[in-house]
Amino acid sequence: MIIGSHVNFNTEQLLGSAKTAVSYGANTFMFYTGAPQNTIRKDIDPNLTNEAFMYMKKNGIDLKNVICHAPYIINLANREKEDSWNFSISFLKKELYRIKEMQVGYMVIHPGNALKLDRMSALQNIADALNNIIEDDLPMILLETMAGKGTECGINIYELKEILSKVEKKEKVGICLDTCHLNDSGIDIAKFDDYLSEFDQEIGLEHIFCIHVNDSKNPIGSHKDRHANLGYGTIGFDNLINVLYNPKLKDVPKILETPWVGEYPPYKLEIEMIKHKKFNPNLETDLKELYK
Ligand code: FE
Ligand code: FE
Ligand code: ZN
Repeated sequence: MIIGSHVNFNTEQLLGSAKTAVSYGANTFMFYTGAPQNTIRKDIDPNLTNEAFMYMKKNGIDLKNVICHAPYIINLANREKEDSWNFSISFLKKELYRIKEMQVGYMVIHPGNALKLDRMSALQNIADALNNIIEDDLPMILLETMAGKGTECGINIYELKEILSKVEKKEKVGICLDTCHLNDSGIDIAKFDDYLSEFDQEIGLEHIFCIHVNDSKNPIGSHKDRHANLGYGTIGFDNLINVLYNPKLKDVPKILETPWVGEYPPYKLEIEMIKHKKFNPNLETDLKELYK
């Protein structure tokens, strides 16, 4: 299984991210190139990148499974303020060039918020933006399935399909499933196979390049988007294990974005739960023990 979590991208850049991932027992990871809430970015240091490549090779992390996540402030769906739409486009493009310097192949983005705009026009704006951004030798963009909080776009198979149908270079755009978002958007993860066959019919499973594996603090269809630790939410451990071990998604990187427990990252112990297919009901106590 290709499994990891989201990790920091600090002064050691990709090397630091890889070290954190290895400390969790992960064989992949997802990072932000800077704070997800702002657009302040430092230059990529080629020495650190080369060190990261060597470190990853030694520790069993294949660069082709590493994922980047775009900052939240990008909104491709609404262009009432043409300036901010253009800013989102140029910033995302810059981020793609930055991760290309590190040979990272995928950038997950939230498709965007329609705000006061009707949804069809919002989907069209997203596709127009993507057609603006995509270049043959830039990394792929992965559209994340969203929970339907506020005016989020990409909240069901049909909206994602609609965007993809308007994209010119289809080989450069894929999908990132998020189990918490799916649950909150109205999908029952206990019937994940039904969802997958519908997805396969409408879009095609070969378009899935990443899965965010999170439990949810809220019931199905709540449109909330609050992540929970594996087995500590409404989706439940067994249903998440079925997603993680689904043979149809075997080669797709799985990324945990579950919340820290107090001051501790849960990922090492959650990855252990996954490897042993066994729920740990003492996550908090065991983390205190582990990191004391
Ligand atoms: Fe996301
Ligand atoms: Fe996510
Ligand atoms: Zn989320």
